[in-house]
Amino acid sequence: MNSGRCAACRYLRRRCAPDCIFSPYFPSNNPQRFVSVHRIYGASNVGKLLQQLPTHLRAEAADSLYFEAQCRVEDPIYGCVGLVFLLQQQIHDAESQLAKTLAEVAVLKSHAKHPQAQQFEAESDFNNLLQKQLDNVANLSFSNQATSGFM
Ligand SMILES: [Zn+2]
Repeated sequence: MNSGRCAACRYLRRRCAPDCIFSPYFPSNNPQRFVSVHRIYGASNVGKLLQQLPTHLRAEAADSLYFEAQCRVEDPIYGCVGLVFLLQQQIHDAESQLAKTLAEVAVLKSHAKHPQAQQFEAESDFNNLLQKQLDNVANLSFSNQATSGFM
């Protein structure tokens, strides 16, 4: 009796029409997918949104809605933005580490050329180079945010 209905129509307890907007993107074998999206956006809004899109973009939009809804269910405050912040922090940490390592390499190279240089100069060179590298990271992070249009 229930066979043939998509997850949305099954959940909403209605007949699944042959041209049901949900049917291709919310199959009956994955009811949680529709439940999450419905809980966050509402079935009516999701239906309207999908209807407004060209057919070839609907599957991707449904995947995106599901992903964002899942993130919002797991993290009601930040949703998927929390994930974006976390990844940006990881990128920033990695860039800082890279800058530090590049500065160390530069100092070691310069001392390989001039082995008579004193330890004091080495530390001073290292700090100067590290500051330059960190400035580069700061500029890079700023330009990334400016070009992405995010935040
Ligand atoms: Zn349906």
